[in-house]
Amino acid sequence: RAKDSGGGEFREYEPSLHASAEERRQLEFSLRNALKNEELSLNYQPVVDANTEEVVSFEALVRWNSDVHGPVSPGKFIPLAEDTRLIVPIGKWVMQQACCEAAQWPGHIGINVNVSPEQLTEPDFATSVVHALSHSGLAAERLEIEVTESIFLRDANVARRALEQVMALGCSVALDDFGTGYSSLGYLRKLRFSTIKVDQTFVQGASQASAESLAIINAVVAMARSLGMTTTAEGVETAEEAEMIRSMGCNKIQGYHFGRPMLAAEARQVFEREEARRLA
Ligand code: C2E
Ligand code: MG
Ligand code: MG
Ligand code: MG
Repeated sequence: RAKDSGGGEFREYEPSLHASAEERRQLEFSLRNALKNEELSLNYQPVVDANTEEVVSFEALVRWNSDVHGPVSPGKFIPLAEDTRLIVPIGKWVMQQACCEAAQWPGHIGINVNVSPEQLTEPDFATSVVHALSHSGLAAERLEIEVTESIFLRDANVARRALEQVMALGCSVALDDFGTGYSSLGYLRKLRFSTIKVDQTFVQGASQASAESLAIINAVVAMARSLGMTTTAEGVETAEEAEMIRSMGCNKIQGYHFGRPMLAAEARQVFEREEARRLA
């Protein structure tokens, strides 16, 4: 929220704060039509190897530019989509779109797709992943699904079985926003996550030498390593943070320092430039 020089105020649409039921109803109505009106798009944010700083994958992040409300942030419309189960068709579209885009990239670059608990409890989740892979021609090994601890709150067994089905295809599963959710570690034994993504709230204290953040990151890295999982640090915004994270043994880094979420065409330029550097 910023003030411009003329003294007027820019206001982002924030139904969650000033939420009248009416505003929420309108947003829901618009979201219901967003897919067929082609108001949704995907951005791609690079994830780099902490040591070489080369791109290893991109995370697909959905964007909604509403004809009625303008741009609405995922922090606002994803919870609404989950509550109304609109996340099911939206999530299918995201999966299709992301796989089709990634299938055109070099084979060593992966794609990360966020999946909500409501999608995992749909009986056809694994089938929809199979379709996205076969339709796009993307190798299953290049797809990593990101879930949060919230999948273990309700219908945990259904969600786990759905994830095991896509793992049997060759896909991997990352545990997103680690450290912010439900704080039982028991679920780490229940599913073979390939990656733990350390939430940005821990990372962003790291360069200010917040002893607590550093201790938590170190502990997560050590725990992941002994479980045979890798770690990705989210929300790395400065070179200092990147160096700190790298020295603590995190395997991968994601954040504005290495690249913001960008258009598909810009993402392609990122690895085309890398390829040109390798050949030079
Ligand atoms: P997430 O999966 O944890 O994604 C990372 C979020 O952190 C993204 O926010 C990204 O733009 C932001 N981010 C990345 N690097 C930095 C950084 O250096 N500094 C800061 N301050 N932020 C950074 P975004 O795109 O607003 O997405 C928010 C959340 O919405 C995602 O969090 C994810 O939970 C959800 N989401 C986004 N796309 C999808 C989707 O296609 N399906 C589902 N189910 N959820 C999605
Ligand atoms: Mg994510
Ligand atoms: Mg995250
Ligand atoms: Mg998040």
